[in-house]
Amino acid sequence: MRVPLLDIQRQNHVLQEELRAAFDRVLESGQFILGQEVEAFEEMAAAAADARFALGVSSGTDAILLALMALGIGPGDEVICPSFTFFATAGSIARAGARPVFADSLADTFNLDPVAIEPLLTPRTRAIIPVHLFGQPADMGPILELARRHGLRVIEDTAQAFGAEYCGRSVGALGDCGTMSFYPSKNLGAFGDAGLLVTNDRELARRARLLRNHGAERQYFHAMIGGNFRLDTVQAALLRVKLPHLAAYTAGRQKHASEYTRLLRPLEDRIILPAAAPDRTHIMNQYTIRVPGRRDELQEYLRRRGIGTAIYYPVPLHRQECFGGALEAPLPVAEMLAAEVLSLPVFPELKAEERAEVAQAIFDFYDG
Ligand SMILES: *Cc1c(COP(=O)(O)O)cnc(C)c1O
Repeated sequence: MRVPLLDIQRQNHVLQEELRAAFDRVLESGQFILGQEVEAFEEMAAAAADARFALGVSSGTDAILLALMALGIGPGDEVICPSFTFFATAGSIARAGARPVFADSLADTFNLDPVAIEPLLTPRTRAIIPVHLFGQPADMGPILELARRHGLRVIEDTAQAFGAEYCGRSVGALGDCGTMSFYPSKNLGAFGDAGLLVTNDRELARRARLLRNHGAERQYFHAMIGGNFRLDTVQAALLRVKLPHLAAYTAGRQKHASEYTRLLRPLEDRIILPAAAPDRTHIMNQYTIRVPGRRDELQEYLRRRGIGTAIYYPVPLHRQECFGGALEAPLPVAEMLAAEVLSLPVFPELKAEERAEVAQAIFDFYDG
């Protein structure tokens, strides 16, 4: 039995009629840039994220760049972020002209280690970007406390965790602002690139709104230098169809995750199953196990059995060539995770027999 890592078509097929109707509505309106569809989606998204303001933007990557620009962070500034994350977290810091400073992660949750932040602070440090990796909130309590103590801004990279909660509150607007991605593989997937910025700060929302559209309050009158970070109207219309299903998609992922954990528990002396920290909901954008020693071998075995897996992420960012590759102090946990992680198929529409096949294949690998 072949089991894909992700089959987005299963989710979109059942909504085909509604999606076509949304597309037709935009086609007939003739409005393809911003407008009512985007505003209606922003209103829904703000409510879903428990935030006062939400801004539709061109991608999750641009949302981070826009957040940094709106906070006035740029050349001469340093921003702390995890090394073990997707490239966009740090790439956006560098695109804003600031310097990413990489902190180590925790081995059990894959998230930024709050204790690793303080030694990296310098007079130039302006912000921290925790990432809620794989769908599990980072430990925001100590991170926000530290930021408050040192006068730092906090941008939550919520690309993988739209809808997750930390101590009963939705992530995204816990700090100054948060950024979401609707890249098709995220829990809420668009039909191309799309993203969101959320905040409770009215002035920050106002600045971000201007910067999203070339810093112009009135067309051709530019108060600030922004960019084109707008969400496509057609994406907003299509996302309005899917957003009401987000909670159900997430529940599907969580069910698969708890089944994997139940099925794979007997292998716990050989593989490390994902841990959910207390006081947090894990929305399981990825179900990521750690496979000490034999990760690549297991991935190849599963590939030959027709099972899709992925390595998020094989090279920690402090080792990337574009960031100077390992000039900084070593980050042992980030490096260990990069060598051990393997993500299994966990998309909501995965069938029970597919899930069982994945677990069985992992047993066979260790028995064989
Ligand atoms: C997907 C992702 C992004 C970037 O989102 P795009 O919409 O693909 O630009 C940023 N950070 C993290 C952690 C992500 O997973």
